[in-house]
Amino acid sequence: MIAHVALPIPITKTFSYTVPSLWQPYIKPFVRVLVPFTNRRLTGYVVGIEEEDDKNLKEIHDIIDIIPLIDHTMASLCEWASRYYITPIGMVLKYAIPASLQPDRYLLIHKQKGGSIKLEGISLNRACKLYKKETIFKYLEEGAIELRDIFTGEPFFAPLIQSTGTTEPEHVLFIGPVQSRLEYYLTHISKAFKEGGNVLMMLPDYSMTGTYFYNLLNKEFPGRVYWYGTAIKSKARMATYFHARHGKGMVILGNKNCVFLPIAHNSLIIVERHEEDDYRNEEGFRFNAGQVALQRAAIENIPVIAGSASASVELFNRVKNGKFKIIERPLTPFKEYHEIVTKKYRSPFGAIPEEFIDTVKSGVERKERIAIFTPRRDYSSLIQCLDCRKILRCHVCEGIVSYQKKKDGILCSSCNTLSPYARKCPYCGSAFLRFSHIGVEYIEGLLKEHFKDYLVMGVTAETSKEVMRFFEKHKETIPLILVGTHTLSKLYGIKVERLILFGWEELLKIAGYRAEEKSFHILTNLLDALTPQELYIFMDKKAAINTAPFFNMKAFYEAELRKREEASFPPYGRIFLIEVEKKHSLSGAAIIKKIMEEEGIKDNIIGPVVQKKKRLKWKIIVRGKGERLTQALFRLYDLPGVRIEADPLSI
Ligand SMILES: [Zn+2]
Ligand SMILES: [Zn+2]
Repeated sequence: MIAHVALPIPITKTFSYTVPSLWQPYIKPFVRVLVPFTNRRLTGYVVGIEEEDDKNLKEIHDIIDIIPLIDHTMASLCEWASRYYITPIGMVLKYAIPASLQPDRYLLIHKQKGGSIKLEGISLNRACKLYKKETIFKYLEEGAIELRDIFTGEPFFAPLIQSTGTTEPEHVLFIGPVQSRLEYYLTHISKAFKEGGNVLMMLPDYSMTGTYFYNLLNKEFPGRVYWYGTAIKSKARMATYFHARHGKGMVILGNKNCVFLPIAHNSLIIVERHEEDDYRNEEGFRFNAGQVALQRAAIENIPVIAGSASASVELFNRVKNGKFKIIERPLTPFKEYHEIVTKKYRSPFGAIPEEFIDTVKSGVERKERIAIFTPRRDYSSLIQCLDCRKILRCHVCEGIVSYQKKKDGILCSSCNTLSPYARKCPYCGSAFLRFSHIGVEYIEGLLKEHFKDYLVMGVTAETSKEVMRFFEKHKETIPLILVGTHTLSKLYGIKVERLILFGWEELLKIAGYRAEEKSFHILTNLLDALTPQELYIFMDKKAAINTAPFFNMKAFYEAELRKREEASFPPYGRIFLIEVEKKHSLSGAAIIKKIMEEEGIKDNIIGPVVQKKKRLKWKIIVRGKGERLTQALFRLYDLPGVRIEADPLSI
């Protein structure tokens, strides 16, 4: 027998191995196997089986799973994702069936009919260690013993039962404040429960939106809410895995990790804040779980609800095309609006204008709860010498460096090298350095100094757990100042009186073709989560913009779609980033030439071919869609030094 095995490496082809006769009865599509590869052992996934043999092939070392851990529906979702995101199936399967998924530790052996060894009540994992794995597998295959998991007590071999689906499942885009979204979700979850179904609910993150929805849903449906994701302990995750296989009337909550989780009777998918970048996975298999969730609903033929205060332009386009039904509820309006345009001048507060401090002060005097949004996290992301005018750069790679107050060091944004802060210019020795592009750390420090009796808290992805713990403990509304990045917009239900945006308009320079959309999402989601009564927007005179379009949702989407259509940007075409990294310019140029001449690619190139001086890196942007482009990109995938990214966040 020959098994074709997909390996979790960035190579598109699969590898063939001969299967020793003792493992042959257990080789099935998508089981994990341990195979030799160069001089290592890798976990691979069986994707094809042939009955004839080839003795020249290397042998499979071991078989890991007694049955495949994903069902055929999830397998076809993985296959779709592999093509959609131009990623080898082995890398997709590694994400869908991670190494940490170890059911054999939680499967107990039941009902011993035959066999001469005593196995009853011990785990599969232990049984395989005490006796030979092939013996245990043989008993299982013959039905002499049976496996039941410790969480549900159900037999493991029972097939996963799909929901029968509906003839015309509804796809709904719900745009409204979090309170009305929640009510809508609850109604539809109850409906799914009544029909004996389960619900998959996707959330951007675990510690903030996860905690919020877990608590609310668990109150409504006690004991029927399960979390799945890497953020929780492996035993709890396995509990969810087994419940999802067998249970009924449950909500499975999870972030991007749970989009490939097999769920029996899955009859509704909810995606909360589908537009959040947290749904993007950036390591290994690069994909967007919000997007994959929509495809999952299509494959399972079940309804999907995407809910948000500010839907993505892409989803709004689906509404226009009649693929999604839209339901709208108005956001809680704010009472006061102030726009403050400041000029760069010498302020007694360094990089912070005086008016900003005054605005915070007047709120503090009224004992208000104040939230301050700023796009950057670091103390200062740009350090410039005021004497020689040079910008401080990394001594390793020439990347721009930021100042990290807590570590008193400078950090390179490109290569992450942290070096001590010398307090003088490395080029001319001057001590006159200016911190600009300031972030949360800077403002937080300044306000702590100024308002000593007031509680000031930084809210970033790094501190989100502490912040949530604080609000769990202090349910009463004590006066405070929250300074944060877009993480602030995930503090659902934490009411503030005053919301101040500082540097929000700079997002328009940072975020590429999605800049307007990102700015709109952040503003709207901050208003949704924090429900302020007063909104202050501080803008630098040079960068000041007209804010009116950001407060008119429909007009905003229409204008954005018109712009995208003219440029054939998403959702009118997809974008792929091809990066080429080479040591020598000659070999790089040869690869670039090959890419530029590739059929299906050459007519679609829009981006410039940029060459970064130090690392010899080329970037090519390909725009388009369709099977021909997918095939062309897969042909380029295996070229040495080439990396392809679908739907990049920034280009
Ligand atoms: Zn200098
Ligand atoms: Zn560097």
